[in-house]
Amino acid sequence: MKLMNGKNVAKSILENIKERTSSYEKKPGLAVILANNDEASKIYVNSKEKISDSLGFKSSVYRFNKSVTQGEIISLIHELNEDSEINGILVQLPLYNHLNQEQIIELIDPKKDVDGFHPINIGKLNCGLKPYAVCCTPKGIIKLLKAYKVKLKGQSVLVIGRSNIVGKPLATLLTLEDATVTLAHSKTKDLKSLTKNADIIISATGHPKLITADMITKGTVVVDVGITRQLTGGLVGDVDFEKIKDIAGYITPVPGGVGPMTIASLMENVLELFEQQNKRQE
Ligand code: NAD
Repeated sequence: MKLMNGKNVAKSILENIKERTSSYEKKPGLAVILANNDEASKIYVNSKEKISDSLGFKSSVYRFNKSVTQGEIISLIHELNEDSEINGILVQLPLYNHLNQEQIIELIDPKKDVDGFHPINIGKLNCGLKPYAVCCTPKGIIKLLKAYKVKLKGQSVLVIGRSNIVGKPLATLLTLEDATVTLAHSKTKDLKSLTKNADIIISATGHPKLITADMITKGTVVVDVGITRQLTGGLVGDVDFEKIKDIAGYITPVPGGVGPMTIASLMENVLELFEQQNKRQE
C-alpha cells in the first residue's frame, strides 16, 4: 500500500505558513461566520479557529443562533469587507434554511473571499485567470497529488461529484494541469466502466463504499474526499479502503487524507489574501 498522508503534507505547509507569518509585524486576520446548528460544522469551525490561532493569525468567529436574520448577516459582511484588520471572510456552509446563501456569498468582497466561492473567483478560475483565492479542497487535493509526484499531465482523471465546492472547481484545476478530466455524478451511467479506465479517481460524494475493489484497476491512484460520520462516531470516506489499499497505486485515508489538506489550503489562502492586500509577495 502506498498511502498519501495528508496529515504530514499539511503539517509542513502549516509550518511554512507560520515561518512566513512570523516575519510580519501585522498579522493576517480571518473572520468566520457560523450560522447553522450542524454538529460537523461546529467541529470544523472550532478546528479552523484553533489552527488559525496556532499560526499567529487573528481569528474572529461570529456564532449565530436560529433567530438570526438575513439583514444581520448582510450588515456583518459589509462591516467585515470594510475592516482593514480582516483579510479573509469565511461563511461556513450550509447556513440555516431561511438564509439566502447565494446572496450572502456574493456580498463578500472577492478580494477577501478566502474560500474562493465568490462567482468572480470561480469565473476567474474558469477563464484560467488567477483568482484572489482558489477553493480550499480542490487546491489541497492538487497539492497532495503533487507532493507525492503523481503525474497529472495527459492522465485520465475521473472526478466523481459535481458540487460547486469540490467537483466542479477540481475538474477545472485538473484541466489547467493538462489532465483529461471526466466529471461523473449521480446520473452517470455505468460508473464502473469509467473507474476501470481512469489513471486517477477522485471521489467526492459522501456515499460510503461507493467505490469497491472490483471497480479499480491495479495501480490506479485513488483520492477519497468523502466524509460520512457513522453511528459509532467514526468517519468514513467513499472508498472501500481496506479492500482497495493493496490494488491502488496511491490511496488517501479517511480521516488524515484530504481533510487536513483542506484546512492547510484555507490557512494558505488567508496568508495569500493578507499578502495581496498588503502588497507583499512571497
Ligand atoms: P454534495 O452533496 O454537494 O455533492 C455530492 C455529489 O456527489 C453530487 O454532485 C452528486 O451528483 C454526486 N453523487 C451522489 N451520489 C452519487 C453516485 N451514486 N454516483 C456518482 N455520483 C454521485 O457534496 P460536496 O459538498 O461536494 O461533498 C461531497 C463529500 O465530500 C461529502 O462527504 C463531504 O462531507 C465531503 N467533503 C470533504 C471535504 C474534505 O475536506 N475532506 C471537503 C468538502 C466536502
